[in-house]
Amino acid sequence: MSPLALRPRAGILEISPYVGGKAETEGGRPAIKLSANESAIGASPKAIAAFKNAAERLHRYPDGSCSALRTAIGRRFNLDPDRIVCGAGSDELIALLVRAYAGPGDEVLHSAHGFLMYRIAALAAGAHPVAAPERDLKADVDALLARVNSRTRILFLANPNNPTGSYLTGAELRRLHAQLPPDVLLVIDAAYAEFVSAPDYSSGIELAREHENVVMTRTFSKLFGLAALRVGWMYGSPAVVDAINRIRGPFNVSQPAQEAAIAALEDLEHQARAKAHNDRWLPWLREQLLALGLLVYPSVGNFLLVEFPREPGRDAAAAEAFLERHGLIPRAMGAYGLPHTLRISVGLEEDNHKLVEVLRAFLQGPPHAGAL
Ligand SMILES: *Cc1c(COP(=O)(O)O)cnc(C)c1O
Repeated sequence: MSPLALRPRAGILEISPYVGGKAETEGGRPAIKLSANESAIGASPKAIAAFKNAAERLHRYPDGSCSALRTAIGRRFNLDPDRIVCGAGSDELIALLVRAYAGPGDEVLHSAHGFLMYRIAALAAGAHPVAAPERDLKADVDALLARVNSRTRILFLANPNNPTGSYLTGAELRRLHAQLPPDVLLVIDAAYAEFVSAPDYSSGIELAREHENVVMTRTFSKLFGLAALRVGWMYGSPAVVDAINRIRGPFNVSQPAQEAAIAALEDLEHQARAKAHNDRWLPWLREQLLALGLLVYPSVGNFLLVEFPREPGRDAAAAEAFLERHGLIPRAMGAYGLPHTLRISVGLEEDNHKLVEVLRAFLQGPPHAGAL
């Protein structure tokens, strides 16, 4: 066998595969998983019941157009269901948008510490990812615009951004869009929109409603607590919706996932509980970690980006290992170019208390080894 006969397309081997947040500590002991920004309080009991109920019809193909789910999303967010496409997580929609609008020779723009899937999706499509620098770990409108050229096809912006927790205001988003050429697609990834209370925040719905070259993506994986089921959706112009419907798999969202997502959408009380939990514990956690002397970036999501001292035994790698030894799993941020930080999701009340106590012990005890 000649080892070089079969080769993936240019760009594929440049991809560092996406590594999700760990679910177990090294010893396999049960752990508190704060590594993937999942819902601290879990899924709506109504969504769980709908999922179980759908198990009776596993021999049937799903509704390939997600008709009932799109109707439910349209009702909940006041949108035209014909302008919605559902996907197997918003990750699938990100990949489909790149495949539809960018290829070899094209550029896909994102901010330096933006969500990793944009770079991966661009490389997978043979396009060239371009990172614009950020200012204080926040997307910089002018730096993004300065990198737009005739090869730019898509600009991805997570708003709020994962992992930094920062956001652009509605006015900044509008300015970014206003200066973007009309043949560049602006994709606003609003995966954490439901958590944000800031009055100057906009999920991008209005921009997407008004402009052909704007798409907003959303997910059921975060506030709605359905990460396991892989359901996301996008709202865009008829032209973009048409393009994505031509290339997506005909049954890309499973039927149990569709039915659970509809039940989750209708359970407003559970959504309010998830939001209230985050409103209570995100600021509490931030204050506690600041009081320990850590640098904690402001966040409007359901997670915090925490910077550790750059001293051996007190750095982010040592903190990660120490937390894991105590049954807590944060997310290491080397892949995001932020090796001195950890991203930590908001957990249940007792998880949050344990996190603070373990970090206190870490910072106040003797220096610790970095590896397990
Ligand atoms: C978690 C996350 C997503 C999405 O996920 P899916 O589970 O694929 O819907 C998308 N964008 C950002 C910024 C995220 O953090």
